[in-house]
Amino acid sequence: MSFIPYGKQNISDDDIAAVVAVLRSDFLTQGPVVPEFEKAVAAYCGAKHGVAVNSATSALHIACMALGVGPGDMVWTTPITFVASANCARYCGADVDFVDIDPRTHNMSIASLTEKLEKAQRDGRLPKVVIPVHLSGQSCEMQAIHELSKQYGFRTIEDASHAIGGSYQGQKVGDCRFSDIVVFSFHPVKIITTGEGGMCVTNDIELAKHMARLRSHGITRYPAEMTHPPDGPWYYQQIELGFNYRLTDLHAALGLSQLAQIDSFVTQRHAIAKRYDELLDGSVVKTPWQHPDTYSGLHLYVIRLKLDAVKTTHREVFERMRADGIGVNLHYIPVYRQPYYERMGFNPADFPNAEAYYAEAITLPIFPGFTPAQQDEVVRRLLKPSGYQTIF
Ligand SMILES: *Cc1c(COP(=O)(O)O)cnc(C)c1O
Repeated sequence: MSFIPYGKQNISDDDIAAVVAVLRSDFLTQGPVVPEFEKAVAAYCGAKHGVAVNSATSALHIACMALGVGPGDMVWTTPITFVASANCARYCGADVDFVDIDPRTHNMSIASLTEKLEKAQRDGRLPKVVIPVHLSGQSCEMQAIHELSKQYGFRTIEDASHAIGGSYQGQKVGDCRFSDIVVFSFHPVKIITTGEGGMCVTNDIELAKHMARLRSHGITRYPAEMTHPPDGPWYYQQIELGFNYRLTDLHAALGLSQLAQIDSFVTQRHAIAKRYDELLDGSVVKTPWQHPDTYSGLHLYVIRLKLDAVKTTHREVFERMRADGIGVNLHYIPVYRQPYYERMGFNPADFPNAEAYYAEAITLPIFPGFTPAQQDEVVRRLLKPSGYQTIF
């Protein structure tokens, strides 16, 4: 049996034709397809504006910049995320701190956030921006976070890299009803892909215009944004220091074509998850818990090993499954454990739920096109890896 990854893209003939059509057109980089893709994503999730960029990492960076994050500011996120959710604040020269996770959803805990805000207020060190991450595709409890943002005066960026196609309280993730900006990733392992790519969506036209400028060197071609009337038809002004974070029309065409299949992708992910739930019910692993307010995009299917019920270690399960050709993974190593962050003096004991998660979590394969036969094999190898008769 060939190697089964934890996630991968699903590319159709239509996707390929869409990219080829751009190759034959006049525009390769940002042309007419990028704004079309932005409008389509914004319309899909119910936001007013989309700003497409070359990765979610870039999207998080310009989102922080547009919200004015800078040296001396504090940005909070969850420790159970990809490093990019925290690095964006560091790019802006801000300090980062982490809020422990909820033991059931594995998202930022509302209780821990509330407690940490109360303490930060006493210490005069409230965060400027909080970045909740919708781990695995399950939305954070955004209504509660929104209420806290009003009470404590912070801005909110949702890192929805896992969550496009999911819903919260019956409305699509990305409608920005409880946040300033929502960020999506279109990396190949995510729900839909553009190869590399990302997007910021927002309901605030000023934030959208600012992020569009930061994406392209800080340059504007709008006379209204210039310090004086244009010198002539060639004229543009660089207003601030921006970047080349543009997405190309090639990528956007793939994204548009993938977006047309998103609901089918998410439905397939739900069918796979339901089957895992049934196959693993009553076993030595805990299946993922879903908050009743959420419909997950199901980027990931994360189980937790019942350590007291098994005769093996977490690490051995990974080693045996990897040796058997199954690409189990761990999302994620707590960010404060990365040497770059460790040097800032974080103490793992401050994050007991993240530590417990890290000791038990295993991401099982889930992606459109993953077959029931492959899934049976994954479950069989998980519960009884080959060559080991009774490890559990
Ligand atoms: C994938 C991911 C990112 C970064 O996405 P890129 O598009 O690869 O830059 C950021 N945050 C989370 C939670 C992710 O999973």
